[in-house]
Amino acid sequence: MAHLNGSQSKGEHTLQSLPKSSVFTQNLPPDAAFPTPKDSHDAPRQTLGPRMVKEALYTYVRPDAQGEAEILGVSQRALQDLGLKEEEAQTEAFKQLVSGGKILTWDAEKPDEGIYPWAQCYGGYQFGQWAGQLGDGRAISLFESTNPSTGTRYEIQLKGAGRTPYSRFADGRAVLRSSIREFVVSEYLNAIGIPSTRALALTLNNGTKIMRERVEPGAIVTRFAQSWIRFGTFDLQRMRGDRETLRKLTDYTAEHVYGGWDKLPSKLPAGEAKTTHTDVKTGVAKDTIEGSGPEEENRYTRLYRAVVRNNAATVAKWQAYGFMNGVLNTDNTSILGLSIDFGPFAFLDTFDPTYTPNHDDHMLRYSYRNQPTIIWWNLVRLGEAFGELMGAGSNVDNAEFVEKGVSEADASDLVKRAEGIIERAGEEYKAVFLSEYKRLMTARLGLKSQQNSDFDTLFSELLDFLEAYELDFHHAFRRLSNLSLSKLHSDEGRQNSADIFFRNDNLPKDGADSRVRIAKWLEKWSARVKEDWGEDDHGRQEAMRAVNPSFVPRSWILDELIDRVEKKGEREILSQVMQLNLNPFSEEWGWNAEEEQRFIGDVPKYKGMMQCSCSS
Ligand code: AMP
Ligand code: MG
Repeated sequence: MAHLNGSQSKGEHTLQSLPKSSVFTQNLPPDAAFPTPKDSHDAPRQTLGPRMVKEALYTYVRPDAQGEAEILGVSQRALQDLGLKEEEAQTEAFKQLVSGGKILTWDAEKPDEGIYPWAQCYGGYQFGQWAGQLGDGRAISLFESTNPSTGTRYEIQLKGAGRTPYSRFADGRAVLRSSIREFVVSEYLNAIGIPSTRALALTLNNGTKIMRERVEPGAIVTRFAQSWIRFGTFDLQRMRGDRETLRKLTDYTAEHVYGGWDKLPSKLPAGEAKTTHTDVKTGVAKDTIEGSGPEEENRYTRLYRAVVRNNAATVAKWQAYGFMNGVLNTDNTSILGLSIDFGPFAFLDTFDPTYTPNHDDHMLRYSYRNQPTIIWWNLVRLGEAFGELMGAGSNVDNAEFVEKGVSEADASDLVKRAEGIIERAGEEYKAVFLSEYKRLMTARLGLKSQQNSDFDTLFSELLDFLEAYELDFHHAFRRLSNLSLSKLHSDEGRQNSADIFFRNDNLPKDGADSRVRIAKWLEKWSARVKEDWGEDDHGRQEAMRAVNPSFVPRSWILDELIDRVEKKGEREILSQVMQLNLNPFSEEWGWNAEEEQRFIGDVPKYKGMMQCSCSS
């Protein structure tokens, strides 16, 4: 998992020396109103405001810096992963980069060279309704850079750096409050091994006044990802019937985002039974679904299946770690299966599957329990966008089809085939989801092997009693990690040990139902642990601590951080909390023992399961 990357080599590069590219803009069609960097650069800034942009996947647009930049936070892990030297964060160039103050990769004197910033064009279904063109309304990508020691290429962008053609009615800015939240959570998800877009820096735009429900200071998050393409990027071209742009985008995704058609999952062989198995020893989920693939499965189907599999694995991780995005619209669902676009997200405090962190989500569409279903709903929309290309089967490169699309005579066959593909992908989605979810829960409960009965007797019963007694989801796993099996030999010992699941200020009485029920569960759990570990309880504890974080950036912690940074003007606290955030499996960080314990301790009364509004 990514959190084991402590041994990773330090970055060696400066911003200047880091290899840069613009594969996205080189390979995809620009907004025809500003076809070159020079056209955009020469245009007065306000002409780059909201419009409909067709037959294009981006517009060249420069950041519009506001206020006096003050760097509030830099993620050391992000510097490393990008390949940048630690000292680089102290330079003037870095400040220019993360404030949008200067374009470092383009010079108006040499307009045909270099890399010019851009904003992506996409659409999306929001709360189940088609919402039309959306796009990067406040995000501007600066360039791509490749870390030479890992070969990973990232697209670096600023969120909150001014209006673009995709800003619609809004101001192109981001407030400090939501920027702190995104900065912290994206780095946390990465630290616990959940695929996510990343955050390099948080910059306050001192002196800016952004209008939301109240007036707030503006900020910029410098963020990066292997790709910012969303399901909504495809939805928009499909809804417009723009087959050519859709095909270009799809080819681009396979060739440049997924690393080439040959990297995609292989064809499903025809005619055999379905099997799902997980190699528990290596911890690698190896679920193969065989036998349902039709002969017409073409390369676009393989791409679709790769997207299905990646998203299934990510949502399984969210479920296993109690994370909710809060607004899983198709514009907030990544083609790479990254956690992306952090608005009213939250981690569970107590285990309540109906909880949604989004204050405006009255239907509970984006609740914890619904996330797997909703990601599948989004994948079906993506399947519709891919439908013509997948349904065409081996005809997909036929010149007439490429130019005009399917003939009337072939249309119903094509639709049937596409529907079949999406349906089978649904089975694959479930299989990958379950296999990954079980793998993680197995590890979180300290088991090395999987047994069929684990799901009911251990996972479900644990979640059931956490829900019934409103117990903390994260503490359950972490405190089990630290619990010694020697305490569980007698019924009395097990009943006493049940205390670990409860808040310190709310311990159950001796002989309470909750104690008895949990003691029974502990008995089964310890027997299973012994089967897998024998007498090596120390090894089991270590293994559990490496997958069960003690620190979780819960809503109350983010709120406190916002209050202290924004209202109280504190500056140290952010980097101190980032220590916990980037090393969440530790228990001591050598900062301030009391504060550390407070941040990993019980949620303060009335500060659990808070909700957040979308305004950011
Ligand atoms: P979100 O709810 O953050 O996923 O945003 C949905 C759409 O609204 C995206 O196209 C965003 O770029 C756009 N958007 C949200 N807030 C702003 C803002 N303050 N200025 C411009 N566009 C915004
Ligand atoms: Mg979004």
